[in-house]
Amino acid sequence: MNDHTGRCLCGAVRYVARGAPKSVSNCHCGMCRRASGGPFITFARYGKEQVEFTQGSPSWYRSSDSAERGFCSSCGGSLAYREARRSDSIWLTVAMMDNPRDLAPQYHIFTDSMLPWLRIDDDLPRHGQWPTAHA
Ligand SMILES: [Zn+2]
Ligand SMILES: [Zn+2]
Repeated sequence: MNDHTGRCLCGAVRYVARGAPKSVSNCHCGMCRRASGGPFITFARYGKEQVEFTQGSPSWYRSSDSAERGFCSSCGGSLAYREARRSDSIWLTVAMMDNPRDLAPQYHIFTDSMLPWLRIDDDLPRHGQWPTAHA
């Protein structure tokens, strides 16, 4: 798979993600809604070694005991997510990529929290809860 470049709204933070992500998923949890301002977040999980910030770097907000969310301190754009217990991984918000069409989600998580007016007609697996946070 091709490498993926991405950037925040203002362009202060830019990255390249090399090779294929480990997984791509839609998260419908309430924390992702508040972090993004949208009804859900599509995340691509990469190995940490696959991702390089080529300009600037995200600021990190600790959103729970075990997780942090990376955002641009200039425009506030939601860029990334990471977990202490899976420090080998970084999750990137697919919507910030230059070619987000290439990374279709493989499943949904936290659909118990999905907004009732959201209509998604795919046949992807849906997990109401998830034993850990973002897969
Ligand atoms: Zn920015
Ligand atoms: Zn979430």
